[in-house]
Amino acid sequence: MPGPGPAARTIDLPAAEVAARALLVALGMDTEQEGLADTPRRVAAAYAELLTPVPFVATTFPNDEGYDELVVARDIPFHSLCMHHMLPFHGVAHVAYLPGDRIVGLSKLARVVESFSRDLQVQERLTVQVATWLEDTLQPRGVGVVLEAEHTCMSLRGVRKPGSRTVTSALRGTLRDDARTRSEFLALVR
Ligand code: ZN
Repeated sequence: MPGPGPAARTIDLPAAEVAARALLVALGMDTEQEGLADTPRRVAAAYAELLTPVPFVATTFPNDEGYDELVVARDIPFHSLCMHHMLPFHGVAHVAYLPGDRIVGLSKLARVVESFSRDLQVQERLTVQVATWLEDTLQPRGVGVVLEAEHTCMSLRGVRKPGSRTVTSALRGTLRDDARTRSEFLALVR
């Protein structure tokens, strides 16, 4: 099965470099000064990297042991770019599922988050995309995804609330419908 994440996009690095230079000029910067000489190229390369998902194959395995408790990956660090300002937001993700017939390697839970993060994102959408991917790929009995992130567009500018974190969650199946499973998950990620 192919890895998740945004559909392959074409990145035109030379065009991005021209645009980055134009942005610097529009911001009143002297792009001839020494320190800025290579900045447009670096800006283009940095955004290209931040917007390119690392491909991976999400191998799944039969749940031969009949494991029927929550699988939880906690405190997965992630960073993404906010769609509204193209500024980073970063924090941790907690990803859980209650297996059905298939399981997936634990490291893949982190890779899924990383893959969907390499996009211009809003945190709510990222949360839902990770949950939907798990649901579609594993057909588990339940899925829980909680993201906690600091948005630099809020902490460094605008309302300037450093350290404030935005929490989003997506709960599916038994993690949404069964109070005991839901509180077990929420206790594990707090
Ligand atoms: Zn923003």
